[in-house]
Amino acid sequence: MSDPSSLRGFPCYSSEKQYSSQIMLNLEIQYMMRCPRCTAFLKPPIYSCTKGHNYCNICFENNSTNCYHCSSKKAPFRCTLMERIYSELRFPCKYYSKGCSRVLRGVLLPLHEYECSYKN
Ligand SMILES: [Zn+2]
Ligand SMILES: [Zn+2]
Ligand SMILES: [Zn+2]
Repeated sequence: MSDPSSLRGFPCYSSEKQYSSQIMLNLEIQYMMRCPRCTAFLKPPIYSCTKGHNYCNICFENNSTNCYHCSSKKAPFRCTLMERIYSELRFPCKYYSKGCSRVLRGVLLPLHEYECSYKN
């Protein structure tokens, strides 16, 4: 382990072990970042109800902006911490079921999905 910069393009990871524990953490947080109703990844803009339950925007829109869990109204503010976590984590391209294997940081995903060759 003499050349940390050779570690799969992640120069900030100092060892292979640290790299794999980061991957596991990423997977665990990814799991928490799913909408409990439709299982899509929560992505910005991320909202919760006034009691703090998170659903994706599509589910909020489909349910007249009320929470499925407790029927509270959608809170008028965005979950900026969740959005920051999203932008730093890696997520699969939304066309993965069509064959795209790209996994990118949330902040880079919209651009890729816009240009993804599996889009159509
Ligand atoms: Zn949803
Ligand atoms: Zn709720
Ligand atoms: Zn793609």
